[in-house]
Amino acid sequence: MTMTALGEPCVLLKLGEIVLKGRNREVFEQRLRANIKFALKDHEVDLRQRHGVIAIFLPAGTGVDVAETIATRVAEVPGIVLVHLAWRVAKEPSVVVKAALELVRETPEVARRARFAVRSRRRDKRFPLRSNELDHLVGGELADAYGLPVDLKNPELTVFVEVDRDEVFLFTDGRPGQGGLPVGSSGRGVALMSGGIDSPVAAYRMMRRGVRVDFLHFSGIPFTTTESIYKAYALARRLDAFQGRSRLWVVPFGKAQQSIRASGQDRLAMIAQRRLMLKTAAEVARRQKASALITGDSLGQVSSQTMANIVAQNSATDLPILRPLIGLDKREVIAEARRIGTLQISELPDEDCCTLLAARNPELAAKIEDLKAIERRLDAEELAVQLADSMQAYKLD
Ligand code: ATP
Ligand code: MG
Repeated sequence: MTMTALGEPCVLLKLGEIVLKGRNREVFEQRLRANIKFALKDHEVDLRQRHGVIAIFLPAGTGVDVAETIATRVAEVPGIVLVHLAWRVAKEPSVVVKAALELVRETPEVARRARFAVRSRRRDKRFPLRSNELDHLVGGELADAYGLPVDLKNPELTVFVEVDRDEVFLFTDGRPGQGGLPVGSSGRGVALMSGGIDSPVAAYRMMRRGVRVDFLHFSGIPFTTTESIYKAYALARRLDAFQGRSRLWVVPFGKAQQSIRASGQDRLAMIAQRRLMLKTAAEVARRQKASALITGDSLGQVSSQTMANIVAQNSATDLPILRPLIGLDKREVIAEARRIGTLQISELPDEDCCTLLAARNPELAAKIEDLKAIERRLDAEELAVQLADSMQAYKLD
């Protein structure tokens, strides 16, 4: 693409809920800018805050392909609702018109004569045209040049013209960002991550609410293969795109599972092991100064997730257990897993450690007293500390 009339490419970011923040807004914006800088650490960029919009300026002469790469990357950073690849042009009405013609010339919307609208905004009142005058000027030229019908109510193509202090920004409809809040603005959590479909989506959902998430995986080794560890690693890496600096810990859990099985209570083994996972995760959270645990539980999905069994899990630890998928349908979770790029990893075959304890006739309403009896025999509190001691850390970058 040669777009000589278009000036310099840049990327504009529209912020989501941050704009609803009152006096804290500056803190959220600072956090978001830091997260964006980290996500773009391999690029030379200059961030500018402009009236609720963050502009990413690139060195002079940067190609549109690099700007595209940056727009795609930054669309993964939570806290942003819309990402526009935009053009900075001189503050001259004739230049703006020329650039607008160029901007849409090769778009599919022009080829199919799509209904369009121009939306101008004049932030610098010294600019000679008011916003509605600019709409008319640019819209008229586009309609004439390409024979496009104007539709202000329900356009298929919108050309945005924003007159700023030093330049005019020109862009069309953007791509969606993740929305939500910047990671780090809501504290830390430890996500219990299996190799399944649900737990990565749960971790993602909490990241999008501003939680910095560390990942904890329980592997059945030495009684299972290491496949589930590779999966957990691949999942954590994929999820790292949304927050950066992620950490994954893997707990060798096979021997502890064997002890649970030796207690002879087959029907309770699954819930007992879930509680041991939660106790271990709580110990990890304490060491890492995280304030909550995160799981992929969804009410009623499997026998370990009946109302009674979820209640029985809550008393395993004093830490709050966040379950962002509790009210979701499996189809909704799968759709989100596909969108965030974890589904294809979760669908790889593995030997999940849970299958070691799956009972033919699992308890649907475990009693706390029965679980506590198993835990006394196991010395579960001490075992959780030992398990946390034995975990292995993986770096993701
Ligand atoms: P998922 O798809 O996340 O594995 P699931 O529908 O298979 O979930 P369960 O197997 O009952 O449900 O697990 C419930 C939750 O317990 C998981 O979402 C996860 O948070 C946690 N969990 C289960 N197995 C493991 C594991 N091996 N390592 C870490 N966390 C686990
Ligand atoms: Mg599972």
